[in-house]
Amino acid sequence: MWARLLKKSFRLQNFLTSFFEIFSLNQCLQCQKESVPLVCGKCLSRIERVQNSATGPFSYGRYEGVLKNLIHLFKYENKFALASPLAKLLLEVAPQNGDVIIPVPLHLKKLRERKYNQSVLLGQELSKVMPLPVYGNVLKKTMPTTSQTELSQLGRQKNVLNTFSVAHADRIQGKHVLLLDDVYTTGATGAECEKILLQAGAQKVSIVTLARS
Ligand SMILES: [Zn+2]
Repeated sequence: MWARLLKKSFRLQNFLTSFFEIFSLNQCLQCQKESVPLVCGKCLSRIERVQNSATGPFSYGRYEGVLKNLIHLFKYENKFALASPLAKLLLEVAPQNGDVIIPVPLHLKKLRERKYNQSVLLGQELSKVMPLPVYGNVLKKTMPTTSQTELSQLGRQKNVLNTFSVAHADRIQGKHVLLLDDVYTTGATGAECEKILLQAGAQKVSIVTLARS
């Protein structure tokens, strides 16, 4: 009898869990209020926008508050579904004359730790709306780097020097590359990737990011 009751209660628990999961799909990930888009308009409007110069980097907002939290959820809390609303923010700032989208890669070691590269997911979503091809296998991170967080500007530049390489260079010959990343900090990573993409034959590189600190 106990076994049957336990089984019943287990089923009920399963039912309740799925019920709440379905219900929570209609919640804003930021404020938890009822919302059909994953992030409600009110929360999006609280993102502090940044001014972009004609040469870039092209970023949507300041790396703080709502945007910082959304990036954190997307990057570390497996909220993959945020790729679509976040890509729409990128669409607002990305230069319209790009030819290809290239996400900033992670080294294999880091990719194994994190399970996925958030920039690749963003690139795939952005490529649906731009629409442009996205190449996740052109730029490669061949050397792991230690965390950039504690380093000075010069330290960061040295830390990423010669840690990237280009494969399938034919895909970027004479092309305007939109180089995609989540956050622009000192620009050391972006500058290193830009250098190597230009050396490999790209005509121009524009750095596009969600946030800038
Ligand atoms: Zn909200």
